[in-house]
Amino acid sequence: MTEIKLHKLLTPFKFRRSVWQKTNGLCHLCEQPVELGVMTFDHIMPKSHGGKFSFENLLPAHQRCNTERGNKGITTPEKYLKVKQRIKANRLNDNTYKNQYE
Ligand SMILES: [Zn+2]
Repeated sequence: MTEIKLHKLLTPFKFRRSVWQKTNGLCHLCEQPVELGVMTFDHIMPKSHGGKFSFENLLPAHQRCNTERGNKGITTPEKYLKVKQRIKANRLNDNTYKNQYE
């Protein structure tokens, strides 16, 4: 068992909460509140690019935002801004969003 898996096993809630607190409980992509219990861990650098399940590499996100953001690494502030703008634009055009996440 790796150190990371052991960490997940022993302190899942504390770890989850500490990641959640990085953004004060907001999804880092659409910047809307995400409940601690339903947030997903978004890898800043995806697993497929070698990103680790570590505090430094994780931010809270809605499941849906996480999926929409895709599997590309956020390597520059410009890229990050573009991803966020795209997701926020999707939210504005989608009336079902509130029902699902609020
Ligand atoms: Zn979101």
